[in-house]
Amino acid sequence: MPHDHADHSPADRILRGGRIYTQDPSRPWAEALAVSGNRISVIGSNADVDSLAGPHTQMIELNGRFVMPGFNDAHIHFTPSMLPLLRQCGITTAQTITEVADLPEYVRLAGEGALTVRLEVRLPLQTWSEFPRYRALAAQTGGMVEVIGLKAYADGMLRKRTAFLLEPYSGSASGRGSLTKAAADTAVFDRMLDGAVSVGADVSTHAIGDAATRFVLGHYENLIARHKLAGHRLRVIHASLVSPVDFSRFGASNIIAEVNPYHAMAIPWLKNIVGEERTRWAFAFRTLKANGARLCFGSDYPGPDGRPEFPLNPLSGIQATVLHENPQERLSVQEGLAAYTIGSAYASRHEDLKGALQAAMVADLIVLSENPLEVAADRIDSIRVIQTWMNGNIVFQGPA
Ligand SMILES: [Zn+2]
Repeated sequence: MPHDHADHSPADRILRGGRIYTQDPSRPWAEALAVSGNRISVIGSNADVDSLAGPHTQMIELNGRFVMPGFNDAHIHFTPSMLPLLRQCGITTAQTITEVADLPEYVRLAGEGALTVRLEVRLPLQTWSEFPRYRALAAQTGGMVEVIGLKAYADGMLRKRTAFLLEPYSGSASGRGSLTKAAADTAVFDRMLDGAVSVGADVSTHAIGDAATRFVLGHYENLIARHKLAGHRLRVIHASLVSPVDFSRFGASNIIAEVNPYHAMAIPWLKNIVGEERTRWAFAFRTLKANGARLCFGSDYPGPDGRPEFPLNPLSGIQATVLHENPQERLSVQEGLAAYTIGSAYASRHEDLKGALQAAMVADLIVLSENPLEVAADRIDSIRVIQTWMNGNIVFQGPA
């Protein structure tokens, strides 16, 4: 049954005859949906929406195509040059790690109507006292640009052997990497976390090594206790290596693991860096999930050195987790799609607005060439995006 709604005026657009995978547990599949303005007004059967067709309604026959919420990439380093690729990949929200100096340009692009993706911005943690001002600046864009939180770094990178490990790197007697300077001064770090809480900002912290992940979990646990935080959206970014004894701490404190699905391909490489034994707990998406971590997926596109290194295509990331190099850490296609849509929406407090296809949510959705739940696992990344809808408008049309 469609949700009741008071407005029975004709819809602007109707999509019908599809296989719509909604991410709404109360109705996982639908046939049709109606769009009024930038929102979904009704979702249900063809009959449910046909009565909303008026003389000016654009009717779109889906011919049985697979439709789902637009992808929400929870970790990206956005530049305006990426816009065509984002549309083509079906990404309708990009959660970008951004310097303060870039924010005015995003706001300007939104004002010109040039943004075809919603930008959710995280600014450096040390700018916390300015957070309300930046948030207000972005709020002029009607939801196209939003400052959602603050980001810190606890350690470096595995490839540079600067990620902070509990035990030394392979072939090293004592080199374990280290905390960043900002994190190593723990009193200052805690004061910045307190500052973030005082201005209502959620914090995300980059932690790649198992020692860095443990460090961040500890500081988050203390922060939650100090402020009696409820409903927080604190994230550990990457969580690439986690000590087996620390996994349960994610679930116990409702901490989000913002992970990069494509990294699951890096296990063979990682064996050279940290040895065979520790890779068992690398990119441990299944174990994180089983321990109650909230998962959200991001590409980290283009990559740490700014060169395109990780694929932006969410379907490549989902394929990588379904075929995880460590079979014990594999996720299902359904779990991957959820982490890349509603999981990311939850991480920025928008699970009631997007990430699923329900009445009153924004009409951010994609039409795919094939159903990812049905194709062979090694063909998921060959599925094409045929249409990308953002805010009720078609922003990308590929060959049918
Ligand atoms: Zn990054």
